[in-house]
Amino acid sequence: KQKNSVADTYLEISSVSIRNLAIQYPKADSLALKNINLTFGPGQMIGIVGPSGSGKTTLVNALMGMLKPSSGDILIGDKPVQDISPDDLLANVGLVSQDYGRYELTVRENLLLGLPQEAVERLGDADLWSALSVACADDFVRGLEGGLDAQLGESFGGVGLSGGQWQRLALARVVLRDAPVWVLDEPTSAVDAETEEEIFARLKVAAVGRLVVLVSHRAWTLRGVDSVVVLDGGCVVEQGTYRDLTTDPTSRFRKLFASQLEGK
Ligand code: ADP
Ligand code: MG
Repeated sequence: KQKNSVADTYLEISSVSIRNLAIQYPKADSLALKNINLTFGPGQMIGIVGPSGSGKTTLVNALMGMLKPSSGDILIGDKPVQDISPDDLLANVGLVSQDYGRYELTVRENLLLGLPQEAVERLGDADLWSALSVACADDFVRGLEGGLDAQLGESFGGVGLSGGQWQRLALARVVLRDAPVWVLDEPTSAVDAETEEEIFARLKVAAVGRLVVLVSHRAWTLRGVDSVVVLDGGCVVEQGTYRDLTTDPTSRFRKLFASQLEGK
């Protein structure tokens, strides 16, 4: 069991396997994901990229057991995701969802949200600052009156944060949890490009030894990942290293992200 694990069960997660996965939303007339086959190995950082509506969030939610597959299997370690309790899943897979939360609490309460008391007692301020630093949130928190104890959210007379600041707190909250898997769905979509680049560099260091699934719609932010999966229209249309995908003039990746990749 790890220092700040949120559950008693620490799953041995060596890999994530997706086999012949298809997902159709109720009432939808077509599949949101079609025949997806992917295996993510231990310690890998995987980038998932694709245009809006290509199925990235659907894939993430399926991985988290939040969507029932129409067909196919998702294995977390050696267990089908539906056989893992929601508590165990949340404890072992740190998720930053696309709709990151805005909790009008103090910074400290935001970071410790959902952790059991014993984990809270073990964590010192230094651990909190270190998680904030990975998310490039330490500077703005240091600037708040009260620092870690600053009250956030205007409805309680606290400080209003920008979308990008809330998002960085959400990321720091996951970083603080020593989970073996991180699933990050566009965790920096509201953050400026320069800060985003810095966050990705820091995340890469903090992620060593973990399996990280990082969703982005900005192709060039995935330069540092081990493998890039390109989704389009609910299908995996390509997978490879960033280098391979950007140097191959015929790649779908180059076509999809031509305007983004210009000058990069
Ligand atoms: P992305 O994250 O790549 O932008 P999504 O996974 O959110 O894409 O969406 C993939 C497809 O599934 C889109 O066509 C979207 O309209 C559809 N979709 C997403 N969520 C729902 C839902 N709750 N109900 C019905 N259709 C949905
Ligand atoms: Mg999405």
